[in-house]
Amino acid sequence: MTRKTIAPGAVLVINAGSSSLKYQLVDPLTEKVYADGLAERIGEATGSAIKHEAFGRKRTVEVSLPDHQAAIGTVAEMLREDGIFLVDAELAAVGHRVVHGGRSFHAPTVIDDEVRAEIERIAPLAPLHNPPNLVGIEAVSALLPDVPAVAIFDTAFFHNLPDESATYALDAETAAKYAIRRYGFHGTSHQYVSRRAAEFLGRPVEEINQIVLHLGNGASVSAVQRGQPIDTSMGMTPLEGLVMGTRTGDIDPGIAFQLARVGGMSVDEIDHLYNKQSGLKGLCGDNDFRTILERVDAGDPAAVAAYRVYLHRLRHYIGAYLIELGAVDALVFTAGVGENAAAVRADALADLQMYGITIDPVRNAIRSGEARRISTDDSSVAVLVVPTNEELAIARQSVAVVAGP
Ligand code: ADP
Repeated sequence: MTRKTIAPGAVLVINAGSSSLKYQLVDPLTEKVYADGLAERIGEATGSAIKHEAFGRKRTVEVSLPDHQAAIGTVAEMLREDGIFLVDAELAAVGHRVVHGGRSFHAPTVIDDEVRAEIERIAPLAPLHNPPNLVGIEAVSALLPDVPAVAIFDTAFFHNLPDESATYALDAETAAKYAIRRYGFHGTSHQYVSRRAAEFLGRPVEEINQIVLHLGNGASVSAVQRGQPIDTSMGMTPLEGLVMGTRTGDIDPGIAFQLARVGGMSVDEIDHLYNKQSGLKGLCGDNDFRTILERVDAGDPAAVAAYRVYLHRLRHYIGAYLIELGAVDALVFTAGVGENAAAVRADALADLQMYGITIDPVRNAIRSGEARRISTDDSSVAVLVVPTNEELAIARQSVAVVAGP
């Protein structure tokens, strides 16, 4: 295989989950994606595989992946087959998505031993996410010890939420002792999308108010006032807020007592139930929105009921954030469902003309990978679809922090 030219300054973006590793090699200046992919079922006895794409060529290899280090090693080997030699590619940085920054991190941070230790210290706030993020950091550092590694925190954009939206009405001493507050998540996406939406509208982000709806498998809404978030639906963990693919979203805290006392469930069982067996999947058996919409169109009662619950919660937050922001210039849909499911956008904003929100059905039906306006010209709130690009945002922030002020 002939060696391919990679412009110096590319960034390897890493998003490590407990049994997965998502990666992208991207030039943050030109936005060119050289390669990306997903290693799945890491550490499982069977079914491990890497779905990989480089220079437009896609392939999947089924390969044993005992740990994250094996996964990144195999990715490096696959890249070599594509003519990309990671070790001497003159990468500017490796950008790691880290889910929880706690109160310690509110900006992109170059990872050293102290930062590693601090990410570990706050891991109890995100036991499902931070430990695998750290494993990813270790694995890639072993492969690329000389490339600066940067942590980009999912909570960072929300670090300055006003106290009244960050505070739970819990005994104040207990809350302080256990660092319990609203942190918010999907921050990289909410920040990127709110800035792109302002660019699209040709207005400074500091001059407009937006409601950003990140609707993917995980889902969250934020109220962004003149570029700064003043509220968001996810809380101390990514469990709060909207109905999600497999997560409950908002739920009466008392339900946990019932499940424990009457159902005899352990904390871990309740955690699993709330995070993995609830949401759309728990309501109708499916969490892929394409399947759910097909079932809704076919009149399937469980899917229709689940869809109604999903929309009800979504509209609840839209209403709340309209009031919190007072005046709203733009309502912005993003992520898998927000970018692709025209029916969800139309149903979420049905009959809101009296709030200055009117969708144009023809514009809404157009499929595109570009930022676009789907509201009518006389809708006083601009309704936009803005594709998110967390990898590009992570790459840009990584380069900026490595370059220094
Ligand atoms: P995450 O990053 O949280 O895993 P994504 O942003 O990739 O999630 O979104 C995944 C969701 O988007 C899935 O529920 C998927 O069904 C949905 N989705 C993707 N494409 C479409 C489509 N064309 N129509 C409806 N839903 C879609």
